[in-house]
Amino acid sequence: MRIGFIALLSLLLIGCGQQASDSSQSAAEKQQTFEWKLVTTWPKNYPGLGTAPENFARRVEAMSAGRLSIKVFGAGQLVPAFEVFDAVSQGTAEMGHGAAYYWTGKAKATGFFTSVPFGLNAQEMNGWLHYGGGLELWRELYEPFNLVPFAGGSTGVQMAGWFNREINSMQDIKGLKMRIPGLGGDVITRAGGVSVTMPGGELYTSMQTGVIDATEWVGPYNDLAFGFHQVAKYYYYPGWHEPGPILELIVNKQALASLPADLQAIVESAARAVNQDMLDEYTARNNTALVELVETHGVDVRKLPDDVIAELRRLSAEVLEELAEEDELSRRIAESVKAFQKQATAYHGISEEAYYQARKQ
Ligand code: CA
Repeated sequence: MRIGFIALLSLLLIGCGQQASDSSQSAAEKQQTFEWKLVTTWPKNYPGLGTAPENFARRVEAMSAGRLSIKVFGAGQLVPAFEVFDAVSQGTAEMGHGAAYYWTGKAKATGFFTSVPFGLNAQEMNGWLHYGGGLELWRELYEPFNLVPFAGGSTGVQMAGWFNREINSMQDIKGLKMRIPGLGGDVITRAGGVSVTMPGGELYTSMQTGVIDATEWVGPYNDLAFGFHQVAKYYYYPGWHEPGPILELIVNKQALASLPADLQAIVESAARAVNQDMLDEYTARNNTALVELVETHGVDVRKLPDDVIAELRRLSAEVLEELAEEDELSRRIAESVKAFQKQATAYHGISEEAYYQARKQ
């Protein structure tokens, strides 16, 4: 008892000392203000994807009482969409918002941190990143690029995409020119298709002019905003390639280190808040957008045939196995995701999945 009491007293005293030094430190630090730039891969204020970084900047500004103000730039305003990674790495901008799988040219394993085909859903991705060791691996991967990543939003399970060709068998994927980045794109290539990566802002015209035959983007809420129903015949599900994609907020390492501890904590907390907020928004808005696509615009919504799904799943496993062979870090990431997914599948089988079934009956 006595030892416990003394230990507690010591902790309290240490706590007070810490507090005293913190407040004297913050007096000087509170004079200091920071003005940051945040570049994104999305059109300025694009619903959800583009409004999330604005929401992040607003929260940071409010929480820091204006000590850290962040100006958000849409794709092409300061740098083109696909130069966000380099711009933040080199310090042209302090922060960026986009998706890790746009950077597979920098490191193949970035694909793991957006979405793995037939992998984790949004809930599971968040669990893996924040409580399953995922974020530490992501930071290790980005370290050589001078970047610190944070989860920066999730769209939930996506749609397989918009197609101007019916998909009745794997034969229909042969020669299909589809915009599909990351590991999903590797699977389409392996299936005999041609995968293309291009920013969202270019997709409508590319579909309209036949530069591509198909595109995945997000789901009803975002796809309606781009008007893909005007340039595509079929809307296929499920989003086998992106079951729970996580977006990223990346911060230049020196810029983050230059902030006082309280502002660093604000950046972290605002990122965490925006990450959840986006998923909440998509959960609500995808439902209403789907109704509008079907009832107002008469969109032909179709399920990919079961045998096509099975074959894509087989090819995905091959792609993942090869990726794990790339290097030692890729192997550790692959093993971490695989172990997490095994346990999540087992438990979610008797919780989430069992509940969805039960709700239908
Ligand atoms: Ca997508």
